[in-house]
Amino acid sequence: MRYYDHLIFDYSEEGRRGYTLPKAAAPEVSSALPEGLRRSSAPALPEVSEVDVVRHYTNLSQMNFGVDTGFYPLGSCTMKYNPKINEEIAAMAAFGAIHPLQPVASVQGVQAVYASMEQMLAAITGMKYFTFNPCAGAHGELTGLMIMRAWHRSRGDVARTKIIVPDSAHGTNPASAAVCGLDVVVVKSNAAGLVDVEDLKPLLGPDLAGIMMTNPNTLGLFEKDIKEIAALVHEAGGLLYYDGANMNPLIGTVRPGDMGFDIMHLNLHKSFSTPHGGGGPGSGPVGVAAFLKDCLPYPHTIETADGYALQTTGTTAGRVSAHMGNFGVILRACAWLLTIGRQHVREVGPIATLNANYVKEKLRDAYKLPIPSVCKHEFVFDGLINDGAREGVEGATTLDVAKRLLDFGFHAPTIYFPLLFHQALMIEPTETESKETLDAFIDVMHRIAAEAAEDPNILHAAPHNAPISRPDDTTAAKHPVINWGDLQAEG
Ligand SMILES: *Cc1c(COP(=O)(O)O)cnc(C)c1O
Repeated sequence: MRYYDHLIFDYSEEGRRGYTLPKAAAPEVSSALPEGLRRSSAPALPEVSEVDVVRHYTNLSQMNFGVDTGFYPLGSCTMKYNPKINEEIAAMAAFGAIHPLQPVASVQGVQAVYASMEQMLAAITGMKYFTFNPCAGAHGELTGLMIMRAWHRSRGDVARTKIIVPDSAHGTNPASAAVCGLDVVVVKSNAAGLVDVEDLKPLLGPDLAGIMMTNPNTLGLFEKDIKEIAALVHEAGGLLYYDGANMNPLIGTVRPGDMGFDIMHLNLHKSFSTPHGGGGPGSGPVGVAAFLKDCLPYPHTIETADGYALQTTGTTAGRVSAHMGNFGVILRACAWLLTIGRQHVREVGPIATLNANYVKEKLRDAYKLPIPSVCKHEFVFDGLINDGAREGVEGATTLDVAKRLLDFGFHAPTIYFPLLFHQALMIEPTETESKETLDAFIDVMHRIAAEAAEDPNILHAAPHNAPISRPDDTTAAKHPVINWGDLQAEG
């Protein structure tokens, strides 16, 4: 353990200060707080000098892994680099110092951001209107399904409570549907990893609210029967919901609106280059076709003869968040789109797709590739071809590969998802990585495969260089030790 890997409390010396101020000349003002509400002793803060604080936090920041420290091929998450200009713009006082309850007339610029984002996202997706109120992808799904339900109800069609979700779907899809009070029915994938149209047909009927899909699906494969699926679902009176969390491969090439989808969400904190991780802040705007306008949640920015105004009633999905979502995230996405521009935004999808296929083809001699066709922005391996298992020696697993990658300064891909493959290793390089970075990653993945074949124990014990090795996942998630108090309680 390095000296500065200790807790900041370990450096505490009674009476040590970072700063001291001269005694104020003005008389002390006694607190207006009632006696019973005041603390009886000073807070138990570490007593340290400024340099101790700086070293503590700087070292702490380096124990973490982020897209600013290394390549982050986390499939289904689109961990692309977030250009710093977006941060600069989001930090401008003109945006940062306003209040959400300010009169709309005094924040016309903010409303203009919402309105122009609505137009840009409509152009990219083929939807007509967007609400920016949802604060995450899953929140967008819930909002979209509330819109779907509101539409059926507005037509007196109250029996439509069934929602179809493919078995390859992201886990949030069935979860959001359940939270919305819909009954989830699973449609199977066929051998090619696509929705099985024959399996779908018997599920369609007068109780159908709709289907939730994503295309390319969670395996990175394009659902080529989408037009037929859309026609079948519409014919049965259902709507099509598009999970656009991973819009990356489509931007500038294909639009969900043109495929027949009626409602969708986007994750601005994935494809639209705003930071994510650690639980937020996120933004999951929901787009709808023109006929669903009256089902949008409120408030919604509209343009009037006197400038922008907020529509706060007359819609049926109600309110889904305080105010209008995470404006800072929306602003970053807006800055990113304007920086790239209409012409170059078309290159995002094709380059992301090229990068994924490049990595896939370079590594398929060492990792099992269950679906060998051309992929879109991401692909799935199903563990190592030669995991080194032999008499008395346990083979290396996907978890072992993921842990070993950390030793070489790369974040692990998504592992054990999707559930269709037991040793799933899902890789998404994104368009923001250079060929040199991809080549370095490919080299390391080959080296790890060679280690596994030679001596899987090297992998079982990984990571060897990370600040902590292998916590028990369940304990770490359920009983995290994240501060001094937890540590004290542990004894
Ligand atoms: C990330 C993701 C979601 C959920 O988004 P959150 O912002 O984490 O709620 C939904 N669907 C897919 C396909 C995703 O990749």
